[in-house]
Amino acid sequence: MTASITAPPRALTLHLPRRGEPAPVLPQGKNTAVVVFMAAIHLLALVALLPQFWSVPAVATLLILYWVTACLGVTIGYHRLLSHRAFRLPRWLERFFATCGALSCQHGPIDWVGLHRHHHKFSDTNADHHNSHRGFWWSHMGWMFQPIPAMGAVPRLTGDLAADPYYRWLNTYFLLLQLPLAGLLFWIGTATGAGGWALVLWGIPLRLVLVYHATWLVNSATHRWGYVLHESGDGSRNNPWVAALTFGEGWHNTHHAYPHSARHGWGRRELDLTWLHIKLMQKLGLATQVRLPAPLLSQAQ
Ligand SMILES: [Zn+2]
Ligand SMILES: [Zn+2]
Repeated sequence: MTASITAPPRALTLHLPRRGEPAPVLPQGKNTAVVVFMAAIHLLALVALLPQFWSVPAVATLLILYWVTACLGVTIGYHRLLSHRAFRLPRWLERFFATCGALSCQHGPIDWVGLHRHHHKFSDTNADHHNSHRGFWWSHMGWMFQPIPAMGAVPRLTGDLAADPYYRWLNTYFLLLQLPLAGLLFWIGTATGAGGWALVLWGIPLRLVLVYHATWLVNSATHRWGYVLHESGDGSRNNPWVAALTFGEGWHNTHHAYPHSARHGWGRRELDLTWLHIKLMQKLGLATQVRLPAPLLSQAQ
């Protein structure tokens, strides 16, 4: 699919302070734990690519877990369901999707949602922790290697989630979920002859690294490359190749313009797989109060 690359209106490229925007705080120092963790996980992902770990079951494990954590976990669970409340699910199912999100090792649900709501509030301003005006590297991953001032705002942005004791637990212990997952993958790999370590390495570090970069491209690439359909007041773009990698999250300009819409890809050429999952759950009677913006509702009539 080709996209017409449209320069955003000039007003969108300027930084305009928002109402209530805090004074810019320049992060000081390094977040050493995150630097070490990311270095280790990228190194292990390279180990997974050694020839002795290649196999069809290892690739299948990666693809299934990519879908479970990137699509069910991050785009459906953390993003459209918990951050934007674009639809409602029964509590048990909401918690299932949040648990899939926690398996992506991108913070627990409260911190992820708090930072994401903060991003929407101050997108591409100095208060935005991955402000794309600071460059590709910064918005992609550089921002997390330093203390994140926006973390201070998380409690006041996430009262709805903090009320749930399961989410409070998950927010603290989300990393531990990788341990039973590793045990399960090792057992399956050994029992089936596919190789215990092969499944662990492809199912955890290699899968995590791919899900990380796909997710981060939404913060970096879709605030830089693509086309602008709506005035969203920031630098967000609709980007087809990021949408393909992220189950439809690349239609980011539309998302910034209509953040509470359960559907991000509107046109026939904007495939939104996350939306198709939500639509299926709606048909099954599981998803209710599905939110769509007025322009889409009038199109449907
Ligand atoms: Zn954004
Ligand atoms: Zn969002």
